[in-house]
Amino acid sequence: MNFYLTEEQKMIQQLTRKFASDKVRPLSEKIDATGDVPSSLIEEIAGLGLMGITTPEEYGGGGMDTVCYVIAMEEIASACASTSTIVTVNNSLVCEPIFRYGTEEQKRRFLTHLAKGEILGCFALTEAGAGSDVPAIKTSAVKENKEGLSNNPLTPFVKGEGDGYILNGSKLFVSNGKRAQVVIVFAVTDASKGHRGISAFIVEKKTPGLSIGRVEEKLGIKGSETVELIFERCRIPKENLLGQEGDGFKIAMNTLDMGRIGIAAQSVGIAQACLDEATKYSVKRVQFGKPIAQLQAIQFMIADMAMEIEAARLLTYRAAYMKDKGLKFVKEASMAKLYASETANKCAYRALQIHGGYGYTKDFPLERYYRDARVTTLYEGTSEIQRLTIAKELLKEQKPD
Ligand SMILES: Cc1cc2nc3c(=O)[nH]c(=O)nc-3n(C[C@H](O)[C@H](O)[C@H](O)COP(=O)(O)OP(=O)(O)OC[C@H]3O[C@@H](n4cnc5c(N)ncnc54)[C@H](O)[C@@H]3O)c2cc1C
Repeated sequence: MNFYLTEEQKMIQQLTRKFASDKVRPLSEKIDATGDVPSSLIEEIAGLGLMGITTPEEYGGGGMDTVCYVIAMEEIASACASTSTIVTVNNSLVCEPIFRYGTEEQKRRFLTHLAKGEILGCFALTEAGAGSDVPAIKTSAVKENKEGLSNNPLTPFVKGEGDGYILNGSKLFVSNGKRAQVVIVFAVTDASKGHRGISAFIVEKKTPGLSIGRVEEKLGIKGSETVELIFERCRIPKENLLGQEGDGFKIAMNTLDMGRIGIAAQSVGIAQACLDEATKYSVKRVQFGKPIAQLQAIQFMIADMAMEIEAARLLTYRAAYMKDKGLKFVKEASMAKLYASETANKCAYRALQIHGGYGYTKDFPLERYYRDARVTTLYEGTSEIQRLTIAKELLKEQKPD
């Protein structure tokens, strides 16, 4: 057992910490106010090789391990949660499934550009009637054929060239949905098979029939756009099926396992930023003739934050390490995501408390951290879903007497 970072991991930590502090943090307030992460910042992040950190170099990525990925995510998130959302979606939810399930042709066509950050991707799973309940998705993908006869009696017939799929439906809450050029979409190819009838597709944004619908107004991570994507008779060539027909649910769940490690790292970054601001403020703010840092009530909050952040970081690094070692990490990813996201929220609460009334104003970044932290217990599986996953995995491990 070893708690030390490798030379490569130390290098990525130094590089991303400096970049976050010099280039990202100075923009974070404006990003929140305008609701936009400048493309030039994304280009700089891409230039550092951070848009496909774990993607092998032969496909345009950084070829680094998952621990490097979480270190980079933590540093970027501590400076700007919105920016880190854009980065984590492209890394975990787009590059990862294409690398894992894509054909060689799909990797060459899409992954090499996504991992270099030349284009961005998004992941469209959630629907109005299907959030936590993924198998309830209704977006349909019907195979075309020349006769116009559907292979599925539960979906409309489609007459076409005979070698593609026609997508109909709408996806909600798609992060990166505006700026992405590539969408990973999940749709029902056989409604009679339940979750085994879901398939995944790589869809180019320029595809006719694909449009942007509602743009969400949100509490936090305002610089990361969250949009509805509408598919209306959107024709997808069969070469864009990701994995096999019916693999979609498995691809979504396995992708979210990696995604949860990324959100855990994002949460650790936000929590660390809260602690850093709180300690800085507590030594400067004088009440009753001495800095509030000398009050035990404040020290207890600082100590609890530091301890919980360290525990969250260790859970996150462990899940990443297990993935790198090829071990099963479903339970560990859920534990890391659950604990780190709840820690980020608790730290935002306490750090704001330490700032008193000033924490509630825009003079300090605390109110932004407080709003940004909130989403971490919701997306990529709510805290309740993480608890269900942890319990399910634990009970699977239980051997009968
Ligand atoms: C800012 C933002 C960005 C997002 N980005 C994306 C994205 O890029 N791509 C994408 O596909 N989705 C995205 N989402 C969607 C997100 O993953 C869903 O919001 C999340 O999975 C929860 O689904 P829901 O909102 O429909 O809540 P629901 O599933 O309706 O849950 C409502 C409440 O019920 C609880 N609940 C539900 N089922 C159970 C159960 N079985 N047991 C116990 N409690 C339960 C939940 O925990 C929650 O408290 C994003 C969401 C947000 C807010």
